[in-house]
Amino acid sequence: MNSLSKLHKHLIGLVLLAVFAAGCSSTPTGRRQLTLKSDASLAADSARAMAQLRATSALVKDQGTIDYIACIADAIVGTLEGEDAEMYWEMAIVNNPEVNAFVMPGGKIVAKSGILSVAKNQHQLAAVMGHEVAHVTANHANERATRSDLSQFGIEVLARVLVGDRTNYYSRNYDPNMASGIYGAASTFGQMGLLNPFSRMQESEADDIGLLYMARAGFDPRESVTLWQNMNASSDTSKIPEFLSTHPSGESRIESMVSQLPEALKLYNEAKAEGLEPNCQP
Ligand SMILES: [Zn+2]
Repeated sequence: MNSLSKLHKHLIGLVLLAVFAAGCSSTPTGRRQLTLKSDASLAADSARAMAQLRATSALVKDQGTIDYIACIADAIVGTLEGEDAEMYWEMAIVNNPEVNAFVMPGGKIVAKSGILSVAKNQHQLAAVMGHEVAHVTANHANERATRSDLSQFGIEVLARVLVGDRTNYYSRNYDPNMASGIYGAASTFGQMGLLNPFSRMQESEADDIGLLYMARAGFDPRESVTLWQNMNASSDTSKIPEFLSTHPSGESRIESMVSQLPEALKLYNEAKAEGLEPNCQP
């Protein structure tokens, strides 16, 4: 190897190291994560998406329902510290029977009114909110977008190695049918092998952090188990084989929550001793 290519190798190594060092952060559980997207631009995108959602969705108008859900979200967000507390937290409640809630980067929470059919009291709804807030504070969206970019890059490289460049039809081995087969297979396996387990890991992490958040705000963490029992009873999603879905199955979620309960109960009792006893009424 001549000295020039050695130098190139070193330079590439240094650049990669710099990129990875810049993108290394950690979640509230202390897990190291790779986040190569710009947090500011993700937050700007989600602020736009939130404005659009507000303009185009049927939002819940009933002030009692809005106050009830906001009371719980406020109690949880109120216990956050540092950058998480400084975020501009915002919530929209969509009038929709779906049992769902989700978040977008930068502290945008969206709840669908159907969630109230399974989250039957303030503690159960706090379990949902804690989980969603945890997705934001653990920077899961950035991590997921980073992973998705990297897997796309990997698929591209693999396909080019196997069938040649799809942008160059004169490429030696190029066969459009084979190429599309390989792209399809690679995306499916990328999804199953790389992205799905990854988002299941994020779901479990959001469960763990969320349980501590709700307890710290003075909501009874034992109710999170009841919430998941309600969810299991109400939906068929638990019938999807666990390895194909993005969510851990209800049973394994409940098991891992039960194992976290002692720590959460300790925080709950501390919160109560400090007088944190939220009273959010539907
Ligand atoms: Zn989640």
